[in-house]
Amino acid sequence: MDNEKLNLPQYDIPDDIQNAVAITTLDRLYNWGRRSSVWPLMFGLACCAIEMIAAQAARYDMARFGMEVMRPTPRQADLMLVSGTVTKKMVPAIVRLYNQMPEPKYVVAMGACASGGGPFKEGYNVVAGIDKFIPVDVYIPGCPPTPQALIAGLIKLQEKIDKESLKKVRWYRKGPDAVEIPVPILGPDLIDPRRSAEIKQIAAAVKEGAS
Ligand code: SF4
Repeated sequence: MDNEKLNLPQYDIPDDIQNAVAITTLDRLYNWGRRSSVWPLMFGLACCAIEMIAAQAARYDMARFGMEVMRPTPRQADLMLVSGTVTKKMVPAIVRLYNQMPEPKYVVAMGACASGGGPFKEGYNVVAGIDKFIPVDVYIPGCPPTPQALIAGLIKLQEKIDKESLKKVRWYRKGPDAVEIPVPILGPDLIDPRRSAEIKQIAAAVKEGAS
């Protein structure tokens, strides 16, 4: 462990025990553990996923960041890497997987499609960014982002984790933040249950206008 970094809380350690004692804060220790073992969920959506796979191979070696253990189940994953075009058909599955991941959990939107719809933004079957449904921590631009760009995004995520505090993180809070995200319903179009009141209001207004 990097003693110099852990000694940042500024307590003076006598010279004779410098190599035996490290003083740190609970937040720093907790964040160091989290940021060094972010396990991504193993799934990909489109072409960006190929770059994600390349980033996991020997040349880029995400093991250096403790992120090489891609989990085949959401229950063992900390990180959802949304890599590819998010179609309306996939959104219910993505939200369900997100809900099944235990806290603390993080989301990275990899590429133009996952961040905002990308080249298919106007498509009838594509959503304009996964952040319409689940909270995103880091956005990585590009079409596709290279493995280097993905790694840069993951380093940004680590920097974000470094700034967390046990007193403030949402997974120890009570209240609406801890509630599951309702799974969108795929019918003729995608319906977000969180907007059902608004949708009913618009439908009523249209009906009234037509009559
Ligand atoms: S951002 Fe580009 S490379 Fe990535 S999934 Fe969309 S079209 Fe494919």
